[in-house]
Amino acid sequence: MRRWFLPLLLLALLTGCSASAGLQPGRYTAVAAGYNGELEVALTVDQGAILSVEILRSSETPQVAGQALTDLAARIVETQSIALDGVSGATTTSASLLAAAEDCLRQAGDEASLAPFRQAPPPHETVAPVQTLSAQVIVVGSGGAGLSAAVSAAEEGASVIVIEKMPNIGGNTVRSIGMYNCVDPALQGPLGIEDSEEEFFRETWEGGHREAKEDLVRVLTSQADEGKVWLESLGVTFDTVIDNCLGGKLARGHYARSHTGTDYIQALQGACTDRGVVILTQVTARSLLVENGRVVGVRADRDGQELLLTAERGVVLATGGFGYNVEMRLTYNESLTADMLCSNSPGATGDGILMAQEVGANLVNMQYIETYPMGDVYDGGLRNSIPNSINFGILVSQEGRRFVAEDSGRDQLSASMRAQTGGFAYSVTDGDYLLTKQDKDYLEGLVSMGTVVKAESLSDLAQKLKLPPDALAQTVADYNRGLAAGQDAFGRTTLYNAIDTPPYYANPRKPTVHYTLGGVEIDAEARVLTPAGLPIPGLFAAGEVTGGVHGANRLGGNSFPDIIVFGRIAGRGAATK
Ligand code: ADP
Repeated sequence: MRRWFLPLLLLALLTGCSASAGLQPGRYTAVAAGYNGELEVALTVDQGAILSVEILRSSETPQVAGQALTDLAARIVETQSIALDGVSGATTTSASLLAAAEDCLRQAGDEASLAPFRQAPPPHETVAPVQTLSAQVIVVGSGGAGLSAAVSAAEEGASVIVIEKMPNIGGNTVRSIGMYNCVDPALQGPLGIEDSEEEFFRETWEGGHREAKEDLVRVLTSQADEGKVWLESLGVTFDTVIDNCLGGKLARGHYARSHTGTDYIQALQGACTDRGVVILTQVTARSLLVENGRVVGVRADRDGQELLLTAERGVVLATGGFGYNVEMRLTYNESLTADMLCSNSPGATGDGILMAQEVGANLVNMQYIETYPMGDVYDGGLRNSIPNSINFGILVSQEGRRFVAEDSGRDQLSASMRAQTGGFAYSVTDGDYLLTKQDKDYLEGLVSMGTVVKAESLSDLAQKLKLPPDALAQTVADYNRGLAAGQDAFGRTTLYNAIDTPPYYANPRKPTVHYTLGGVEIDAEARVLTPAGLPIPGLFAAGEVTGGVHGANRLGGNSFPDIIVFGRIAGRGAATK
């Protein structure tokens, strides 16, 4: 991972460069604000051309923005233009790179000499013949489910091609905090947590309001531990912390070392490489190929060029959900309007669901779309949260009042937050529950970025947030009293931490469209089913593209066992059935 931070020298061919003279030859550097922090860029120019673009420093997530930076830097040199479209899925990072490049050019010349570089390059036309690629198994989508399927199919001896429409692999998986639920007596026992496979099943089944398919919930909850062992065998290292993710009652969530989905995708990508799996990015599946009632491949395209990918044994759909597709989500849930924030990758547009539907697949639970209550108020992402604030803090409205048991399900939390003034709430904590230096440093980093407000007293905090101070003081006192008595006014049962030790922290959180619970119906073997309950030969699906695993509401920390457990089943099935 570190290697990515090393200066990256990109020397590209100077094709048809015709910029006007006037730049002062040299190497110029500039810094722009990226998505996660500063991005430092160097431009080397001669009198009339950009010779190279180097990324000197970046805090962007490599899996999300690494390839985008490399590609865009190369394209600046290739086209001699900074009037380029951003790379899909990394638009903020792209804009930062283009801004830094412009800054460098400004240092090198005046407005007249910059003008040629501000012109958009002419669109390039491609007329290409149809290409055919073949493998025994074709996997569509390179998130956790797709890569698990690919590795598992390869473990069965199948040749595998994965196609991914975005420039980067990882989908929503890589954007997630990556909490993995499974029963773990070794970690839970010493904390006095009495858990069992049956309890895990019960909580998942009840948490989904009994709307899931019971057999799928059984598979998820009985194979989650085995999935974790498999991940470890591929190189994922789990933290020894065990936690309960938002919406769950019992702590059974495991974090990979980085506390993000990145570790999983890196390990799975490595396992793909080791097993000879071919991953093709920027290839978009458009439809499924069917012969005599059997799915035999995928019609796709790359840069306007049609690709036919034939699958001798089977196709796995692992295209994720449709949270990013406003039209599609409005079809199923009209309350999730375009103004709602969304935490998803732009790739989450429901393609797999539509393709499966075209070949006769049944869809289930489509109306259930999860909003994540603790989204970033500005971009709907999951980051910038006070660590573990949902378990150790409270949610407070702009009137300075609590309004919900913070350990409620995600659906209830989101609905009650949306009903507050402005549709958001402040997450309020003190800092004494944070145990690790990593968490403490992270929180102070958020304070210095201005994302989290810190104050030495509750009245100061109220003043900074423009909340009524008396109401906030009363709210916190009531909460602390309830905690001491073991009886919370809102019925919260996860009462771990009195909010009574300065400094105090708060940041605004807002529900964000996060996870589409409905999708293609599968059976316990991850075979895609028709409305009559019959498997469609040759077609498997896993992960967020499927419906029926979680029901009407998802327990936080359950999507990772879902993508791993069902990804493995789908991959094995496609390779062997
Ligand atoms: P899951 O968690 O179920 O694995 P993710 O969102 O992590 O889902 O990954 C799904 C991946 O599928 C994303 O990277 C997305 O860009 C990709 N994808 C979606 N539609 C297509 C398509 N039509 N062709 C190729 N890849 C697709």
